[in-house]
Amino acid sequence: MSEVLRLAYEASLAFRQSLPERPVGARATLEELRAALDLPLEEQGVDPARVITELARDAEPGLVGEAGPRFFGFVIGGSSEAAVAADWLTSAWDQNAGLYAASPALAVVEEACARWILELLGLPRASGVGFVTGCQMANFTCLAAARGEMLRRAGWDVERDGLQGSPALRVIVGDEVHVTIPRALRFLGLGAGRMVRVPVDGQGRMRADELRKVLAAGEGPTIVCAQAGNINTGAVDPLDALADACVAHGAWLHVDGAFGLWACAAPDRRHLAVGADRADSWATDAHKWLNVPYDSGIAIVRDARAHHAAMTASASYLIQQEGAARDAVDWVPEFSRRARGFALYAQLRALGRAGLAELVSRGCAQARRAAEGMARIPGAQILNEVVLNQALARFTPPGGGDADAFTRTVVERVQADGTCWLSGSTWRGQAVLRFSISGQDTTEADIDRSVAAIERAARV
Ligand SMILES: *Cc1c(COP(=O)(O)O)cnc(C)c1O
Repeated sequence: MSEVLRLAYEASLAFRQSLPERPVGARATLEELRAALDLPLEEQGVDPARVITELARDAEPGLVGEAGPRFFGFVIGGSSEAAVAADWLTSAWDQNAGLYAASPALAVVEEACARWILELLGLPRASGVGFVTGCQMANFTCLAAARGEMLRRAGWDVERDGLQGSPALRVIVGDEVHVTIPRALRFLGLGAGRMVRVPVDGQGRMRADELRKVLAAGEGPTIVCAQAGNINTGAVDPLDALADACVAHGAWLHVDGAFGLWACAAPDRRHLAVGADRADSWATDAHKWLNVPYDSGIAIVRDARAHHAAMTASASYLIQQEGAARDAVDWVPEFSRRARGFALYAQLRALGRAGLAELVSRGCAQARRAAEGMARIPGAQILNEVVLNQALARFTPPGGGDADAFTRTVVERVQADGTCWLSGSTWRGQAVLRFSISGQDTTEADIDRSVAAIERAARV
């Protein structure tokens, strides 16, 4: 075996084996990392074996144990062995995934993944599916299809004529919209500042009665962005009622479901997302709850023709296969691109339908266990209905005092302690500790050990 590849393989194994017991957060400071890594670029190249040895050594203290069992920050999940192994193959194979001709195997693997995902999530089987870098680009892709189709219905070809002089397009969102939606609207020329916000309920869900009022107050082509999985509470918008309102108004319904859409794949959580299949487009992630390594997002559009029209890059020098073969370039914003379908394929096969359902239900059960554990800590209060994989806690100092400041202190102490890693957030103007479960290696013992670390941090 090549010495350089062997060194990388051994360093990868050593890192992954250290995950269960290594401090979860990074240990090095910014200054230390700069001193170790931000070197002058040498005139003459360095021996690759030395480059890899030193990279593994010098990066390690600045790595975060996101792939380990006690990382509970940002809802960003771990990575399974099957998916990481397939990802290694992907790098070694070095396929350009843009065109069928450049990687027939990848094109067929993506077809299979697309079919499996539509089946697992219970979405219309004829939908277009694109494999993008993450939910940010999935939102962008879906909203590009929505923009094109809604303007086409209003007699305007945005792909040809752009937005200058086009009919106005209304975009309606819930007040708890994820920041990647306005960012996608900026990229699409629709303007982040033009979103119309709909009030939400106490868990952050868009209120269907309020949506109906907003829809009735305007007219013209309209896109509604709903959410499955609030990044704080985990709550899913009332999709069935939102779909009713959109149908009545002829509006496009998009669902941002980076992690929460996976509720559809678990029989005991599916009730949360009833009506999800009635939307027009869905954005989700495989690198969060599905435990595929970065980067892996999925854009799904019911009207495959609208999806294709928004993304296709037909140019004469491209070898376009007649018939059924899939050119990925037609479904995503990227041109040349990583063959990220292989890792997703490996993970879906390794899990199977039952394994995926179990992964989702187990994460939700563990969130309830974390919430129950934290609720027993003196001064702690749980702020959300723990319906999915999220638990929000707030801490009042023993003897009373500033709960915002104390909650932030608890988060800092937990991060410094290293037993687990989770982040602070703000929920309804209050500082909170957010416990998000999405790693597939997390056990009940990991939850209990982490709750014990939080309890220690909440003592004065
Ligand atoms: C994480 C997240 C996103 C963004 O996903 P990326 O994969 O980071 O691009 C969008 N929406 C929601 C609800 C999320 O949780």
